[in-house]
Order: sequence, then structure tokens, then C-alpha cells
Amino acid sequence: MRVNIEIDKDSGFCNGVVRAVRTAEQNLASHKELYTLGAIVHNNSELDRLVKKGLKVIDKEQMGRLSGTTVLIRAHGEPPSTYELARERNINLIDCTCPVVLQLQKKIADTSGQIVIFGKIGHAEVNGLVGRAEGRAVVVENIDQIEKVDFTRPVNIFSQTTKDPDEFELVCSKIRERMADPSTLVVHNTICRQVAQRHSRLSAFAKNHNVIIFVSGKESSNGKVLYELCRQNNDRSYSIQSLSQIERSWFKNGDSVGVCGATSTPKWQLTSCARFLKIRLKSYICSKFYSILYGNYSRF
Ligand code: SF4
Repeated sequence: MRVNIEIDKDSGFCNGVVRAVRTAEQNLASHKELYTLGAIVHNNSELDRLVKKGLKVIDKEQMGRLSGTTVLIRAHGEPPSTYELARERNINLIDCTCPVVLQLQKKIADTSGQIVIFGKIGHAEVNGLVGRAEGRAVVVENIDQIEKVDFTRPVNIFSQTTKDPDEFELVCSKIRERMADPSTLVVHNTICRQVAQRHSRLSAFAKNHNVIIFVSGKESSNGKVLYELCRQNNDRSYSIQSLSQIERSWFKNGDSVGVCGATSTPKWQLTSCARFLKIRLKSYICSKFYSILYGNYSRF
């Protein structure tokens, strides 16, 4: 079978994740032990690579039992209580909060009145934002949850940086319709520019190929949004976390295959996926050889 394979040039780590991963690697070389509060990236393959280098993933409860050590804060950011805990426990923080998230946190802290955050409940970035609002924020995941908003009072609405711009617009318009005075709704478009640009480009990329292989960790919030976008534009879109999930029945001779991923998908994983497809779809004679290289992929 012959197929054309293209890797989406816009896919791969966003600037915030590149910075956090690079900082982790630099510090792993110079620290006896290095902890990260939560998975530094929502991608198991990349996380495993860093764990093998010595990175230890902990939660906040575990951080409360440590002292005199170094903990890295990932790109999503943290609420003020984490910084207080670090001070109490004499923990040195390496703060890799993305500058875009830092700006959003500051904006929320400086805004008075009712605050609505459009984002995923429990997501690390959203927890950090809620912490900055000091009890004034409600989190809305979708239009079904807008009842949480007090429509009789002015509203300042912000978005988690990785949300779908169209969905954010829809949520804002539904809230506006319900407000006693719609002119008191202030929309802060805080979706990361890098993410927003990817949306329109990825739609075009998905339309331009017969098959889309979307590589992403299953915990990635941005991965879920972008894969859904691919699916809307190409019904032969498949989401995978590892090469072992790829099935031969997804492809036909002459297909053009697009390989893409989330802001938490490393470039090396996209490249290895494209290489794997190129090799496996081109030749079955050597399948034994490739199963030694890439493992035993029975579905192929
Ligand atoms: S998606 Fe944007 S805001 Fe979020 S970490 Fe990446 S660069 Fe920063």
C-alpha cells in the first residue's frame, strides 16, 4: 500500500510547554532530586522520558510532606496557596508558569465583581485562576452550566487558554441573552493566540487529507478540543496515544494521511508516528523486522 504522509507543521509543544520541559531538563542535570507538581506535560510518552531522567511527579498532598527540596511548577500555573505551602515547607520553586497564563492570573486578580471562567473544572490552569479570584469565580464548562452565573449582576468572563474559540463565543452569547443588563457583560478573550491560530489551520489541514492521525495524551484538555475539531472536518480522524493503537483498516491505497497533535504532543512523537506509518504501510514483507523495531502491532 502506498500513502502520502504529512506532519502538521503547527502541531507540537506550544511555547509554554517547550519552556517548562527545557527548564526541567536543565535542572535535572544540576539537581540531586527534582519534583514536578502534577504531570509537567499531559503526554505519557514524554513524561516517561523525563521520569527516566529522574523527574518525580507529585501532588499537593505529597508536596506538603517534603521540605528543603526543589519543586517545579508547570506551565499551567498554580493558585497562591501553593506558593504559601512552598514558603512554609522551605521548598525552592522553579516557576515555569507560562507568561500568558501569568498575565491571565494577574488580570483575574485585578478584576472586581463577579468572575466567570470558561474552562474545565479541576484542570490545573483553572484551579490556579480560581485561586486568584479569591472566592469570586464560578467555573462554567459548557452552555449547560451557565445557570451558575448570577444574571442580575455584572459579569467579567475569562477563558481557559486552551479552549475552543467558537465555544467560548457561544457561551458568552448565551450568558448575554440571559442578563438583566447585557451591557454589563465584559468578555476577556484570553484564549492563547497560539492555540486560537491552530484552530483555523488545523481545520484546513484535516480537510486536506483523507485520514487524520491525531496523537495526544488522553489527559490533554487541548488534545480533546483539537481532536474534536479534526473529527468535525474529517470523519476519518483517529485519536491515538501510542503507535500500538493504529489499525491497518483505517487506510486505503493512495490515501493522503495527516499526522498532527496537541500543544502537549512532542514533535518527536509525531515524527515517529509518520515514520512508523511510512514503513508499515509500504511493506509487509519486512513486518517481522519492524515488529522488532516498534513492538508487536498485531492490528497491522
Ligand atoms: S497553550 Fe498558550 S498559554 Fe497555554 S501554556 Fe501553551 S503557550 Fe502558554
